[in-house]
Amino acid sequence: MIFIGGLSDRQKEVSSGSFTCPHCGIPRPYKLMQAGRYFNLYFIPIFRTKDLGQYVQCQICQRNFDPQVLTYKAPSASERLEQEIRQELQSGMPLHMMVEKLIAQKMDRTTAELYVKRASEGETKTCTQCSFVYLHGVERCLNCGTSLN
Ligand SMILES: [Zn+2]
Ligand SMILES: [Zn+2]
Repeated sequence: MIFIGGLSDRQKEVSSGSFTCPHCGIPRPYKLMQAGRYFNLYFIPIFRTKDLGQYVQCQICQRNFDPQVLTYKAPSASERLEQEIRQELQSGMPLHMMVEKLIAQKMDRTTAELYVKRASEGETKTCTQCSFVYLHGVERCLNCGTSLN
């Protein structure tokens, strides 16, 4: 009788669901896998000899991640909007124009003002010539060209 035995690595699915894949950047289906090393006899896995840990596999890009990615939360729609507003303000748009822009995008005035206020967080400065208000880092008034420093 020939004895054929050996070790092999196998993966077992622990659970599955939907997560924000760090590679794809959007919600994707995943499988949580458990990797283990098995002792084989005649190529049949007999018992697990070693736990190799768990990993999360994106079912779209097939990349593997640490199970910690499952607790990561993608920014909400309002957080994303706030970031966009902040970027616009940083690039030199005066606060009241940002409010008008949001209103033009069908947001009501109260909400628009609240968003702009939150995005600027009180770090503002006012043009001495035309009194347009800007985010702190802006260097030149868009309206009259006056230096804000
Ligand atoms: Zn992916
Ligand atoms: Zn000005």
